[in-house]
Amino acid sequence: MSSTNAVDRRDEFFGKRALVTGAGKGIGRATALLLAARGARVVALSRSADDLRALELEIGCETHAVDLADTAATRAAALAAQPIDLLVNNAGIARLQPFLDLDVEAFDETMAVNVRAAMIVGQVCARSMIERGAGGAIVNVSSISAQIGFALHAAYCASKAALDALTRVMAVELGEHGIRVNSINPTVTLTPMAEKAWGDPGKAAQMLSRIPLNRFVKPDEVAQAIAYLLGDESRMINGVSLAVDGGFLAR
Ligand code: NAP
Repeated sequence: MSSTNAVDRRDEFFGKRALVTGAGKGIGRATALLLAARGARVVALSRSADDLRALELEIGCETHAVDLADTAATRAAALAAQPIDLLVNNAGIARLQPFLDLDVEAFDETMAVNVRAAMIVGQVCARSMIERGAGGAIVNVSSISAQIGFALHAAYCASKAALDALTRVMAVELGEHGIRVNSINPTVTLTPMAEKAWGDPGKAAQMLSRIPLNRFVKPDEVAQAIAYLLGDESRMINGVSLAVDGGFLAR
């Protein structure tokens, strides 16, 4: 294909304010960079202030430092971030424990960050979108763990299955307001989180052998799928969980 056929996406999200949670590292950071490169005004929400400062220097984004496990602080930060047209609920944690040793504190924290915060931030953004009559798009960053039982990942898998379910209900209820809600479900993606869960070469090789494309995902590849679900080209796609997994789930 000649370069003259390439789509120029620099203004794809011009005039839109895009809130990305967990924008400090990994997939969230890659998504913030991509949306900014495509013209969005990025509003970055994350925990570590240093990460946010570095991102702000790079793309000139608005930043909010908050612990998404804190309900009141999360709601306040989401309100302060308005108005928002595009939301990426990306922040997530994985605390690895065998099921028999899984403690309630780890389970509750995982559900709070991976599911409850997406609900709270989603509510605040959707209410504002409805008030403004502007419509919008929301992408929840889930995982293939929503459908697969990975050892040591009980709380994480439960949280991602819940996030997929939340996504479907949000899509059903918010569709009439012109707000689309989808999830993106990557396999192992090369970020600090993946290093923690899959850094052991033996474990990584076992996982790779289950991926038909025989490699892990790059953060930028997840960001591109997120941008697709946020953008106009996916305007009739609502309520889906889109695997970015090199064919893992097809086996
Ligand atoms: P990551 O490298 O660990 O980055 C996560 C980001 O979220 C960090 O900036 C982190 O900030 C922030 N965050 C975590 N807990 C937070 C909290 N309580 N409050 C505010 N911010 C918080 O993770 P990632 O691999 O990019 O994962 C991003 C999303 O993709 C997650 O939802 C994850 O479940 C999902 N996912 C990842 C993979 C993978 O293999 N990497 C695969 C499938 C799905 P701090 O560092 O400051 O805490």
